[in-house]
Amino acid sequence: MTSATAYVESVLATLKQRDPHQPEFLEAATTILKTVVPVFEKYPEYMKANILGRLVEPERAIQFAVPWQDDQGQIQVNRGFRVQFNSAIGPYKGGLRLHPSVNLSIVKFLGFEQIFKNSLTTLPIGGAKGGADFNPKGKSDAEIMRFCQSFMTELSKYIGPDLDVPAGDIGVGAREIGYLYGQYKRLKGAQRGVLTGKGLSYGGSLARTEATGYGLIYYTDELLKANGETLAGKRAVISGAGNVAIYAAQKAEALGVKVLTVSDSNGYVVDENGIDLATVKQIKEVERGRIKTYAERVDGAKYYEGSVWDAALKFDLALPCATQNEINGAQAKRFKAAGVIAVAEGANMPSDPDAIAAYQHDDILYGPAKAANAGGVAVSALEMSQNSRRLSDGFDTVDGQLHEIMQHIFKASADAAAEYGVPGDYEAGSNIAGFLKVADAMYAQGM
Ligand code: GLU
Repeated sequence: MTSATAYVESVLATLKQRDPHQPEFLEAATTILKTVVPVFEKYPEYMKANILGRLVEPERAIQFAVPWQDDQGQIQVNRGFRVQFNSAIGPYKGGLRLHPSVNLSIVKFLGFEQIFKNSLTTLPIGGAKGGADFNPKGKSDAEIMRFCQSFMTELSKYIGPDLDVPAGDIGVGAREIGYLYGQYKRLKGAQRGVLTGKGLSYGGSLARTEATGYGLIYYTDELLKANGETLAGKRAVISGAGNVAIYAAQKAEALGVKVLTVSDSNGYVVDENGIDLATVKQIKEVERGRIKTYAERVDGAKYYEGSVWDAALKFDLALPCATQNEINGAQAKRFKAAGVIAVAEGANMPSDPDAIAAYQHDDILYGPAKAANAGGVAVSALEMSQNSRRLSDGFDTVDGQLHEIMQHIFKASADAAAEYGVPGDYEAGSNIAGFLKVADAMYAQGM
């Protein structure tokens, strides 16, 4: 019989042959596939059922045109996507990203990661992702609304509360979810469970806005505690200034961490007094402006062009909350000397493969995205549950559930790593723990 290694290699080879021009998807798939080899050694029946060959192919991938009218009356066209990757453990679930870089490779990488992330939450949700190559930057509110309405006009044909439940991601926040939900309702009726991240007045969950950032810090707390460390007194570099970064910073500061930075795609600010979140929220959420203006408003803060991961700072915790591959190998190799003891990922796949190799080489604790940032989608699933019950839970109830879920995710990843012979490798552990449930469900459901 084929060995587990040969089996996984052959699935990967087929994928590379089929999708040679999907670098982000191949990067995500390679990382996951290589770490699940021991599962096939233990359960050869999964090999026989070709679970992996089936898992790397999206169950359905939809691409569609999104025509919309700009404020000058011109007709613009963007490209929309929804990749429904895997429904073995529940309805498809995952965010929508609006960013000029969005293409099939990016959506597939995100959808593939989402399968394992969603499995880790313990909640019954499959994996999906979507979005469009639309650039929200500089668009008027009316343009955003028209775009969202056109996008949903097509997407509405493929989603539903028990079928596929999108949410936000980069470029999609409360405003966009409102416009998307409004259009869905016009077309199909008031089915609240069709989207998560909704406003509180129409079926949203308390603590959903905070969930990814808070969850990241709950996870980081577990990661540190398991390794004889604590959050209190640490200095953190956070990238990004969106929803994930803001609430990660808020929870981190509440637990005694000094947050030194926030950033956007142009540059970053360093504030040795600790980032003032009211100012970041005013700039990003109210003015929808650039982070540069922080340094003009807060005494002692300085703005620099470029990547925050090139900053000459001494810090303990790296919390990347911006975007994929934002940390490269050269930057990661400087972490040890800067004092970094742990990296925990708020963004999806923010460390490139060379960066991850550097963390391993330098014994830096590494909490991978699919475990560390699963709090967002976990609370999305709690929102679905509230919508089904037609009830709303209180903030502390949801936040408490989130905290327990993040503790569970860390423990499940650490236990799987130990059981499969790679103790302390939380990346392999989270891949294995996430994979086992999906594989079991796929196997049980037959062909
Ligand atoms: N976009 C988020 C993620 O990457 C949340 C998805 C959701 O809530 O469905 O997990």
